[in-house]
Amino acid sequence: MKLTFLGTGAGEGYPGFWCTCPHCAYARQHGGKNVRGYSAASIDGQVLLDCGPTAFPNASRFGVDLTQVHTLLMTHPHEDHLLPLQLLWRAADDSAMSLPFEKMTQRGGARFTPIQPLHVYGNSFTREAFARAYSPELMEKNRLTFTLVHEGESFTSHGYRVTPVRGNHVKPGFAHSYIIEKDGRSLLYALDSGSFDADQMALLAEHTYNLVVMEGTYGINDAGDMNHMSLKRNLAMLDFFRQKGCCAPDFRFYLTHMSPHWCPPHDQYEPAVSGLGLSVAWDGLEIEV
Ligand SMILES: [Zn+2]
Ligand SMILES: [Zn+2]
Ligand SMILES: [Zn+2]
Repeated sequence: MKLTFLGTGAGEGYPGFWCTCPHCAYARQHGGKNVRGYSAASIDGQVLLDCGPTAFPNASRFGVDLTQVHTLLMTHPHEDHLLPLQLLWRAADDSAMSLPFEKMTQRGGARFTPIQPLHVYGNSFTREAFARAYSPELMEKNRLTFTLVHEGESFTSHGYRVTPVRGNHVKPGFAHSYIIEKDGRSLLYALDSGSFDADQMALLAEHTYNLVVMEGTYGINDAGDMNHMSLKRNLAMLDFFRQKGCCAPDFRFYLTHMSPHWCPPHDQYEPAVSGLGLSVAWDGLEIEV
């Protein structure tokens, strides 16, 4: 599997849209890995992890073609993870596809490429958000289906085996993380996980990972609530994975969903955590899993 980070920032933006604090000012001035879009990722251009406001623009920027995505795994419906507009450009007059381009485009529309159905998977909170954004007619017109997920109940979509894990972001079950397996390789995508209850920790311990991607939103601030992971809690998770034998020989642990006020700019945060067994993701980073 090839995972591409389409965004690695938290909801307030990185730099914060309305902030000129030292971290935000540094990110603006230095750019590069220090500037982050909203957290999202793609696997092989076939599986999309969340669909926030910058997922598609960043995919284009990084040369990732998402037109043939067949599976959308939604962690939760917060606005930095779901911009419904992006899926509304899927509707088209499919009978126009067989015409020459000049004739085809006279028909109007936003798409002149055949696509496949997009299977959306998410929890009950995400299902409510989808129901608000898309009527049953719009779901059909945009070739979308929605399947409710339950923690611990694995399913397979186009050869990717997926196991949802319940997190405690905002409230228990508001966000789900996903264990994704293919061809004997395994990754965990954990946003916005907050914390995990004991039964979910036991579920996480059942697997061996080549890659863990986890939100590290609260960074060096450990005084915050349990809505997000902090560096201290990320390290406790790393410890847990090691103790339970969950780390494959090539195990890697990347932090994402960075907040500018608790996670210093990439140039500073990456060297600070690399000695601790962690890495910091950046927009456009590709990892061969
Ligand atoms: Zn978020
Ligand atoms: Zn700031
Ligand atoms: Zn959230």
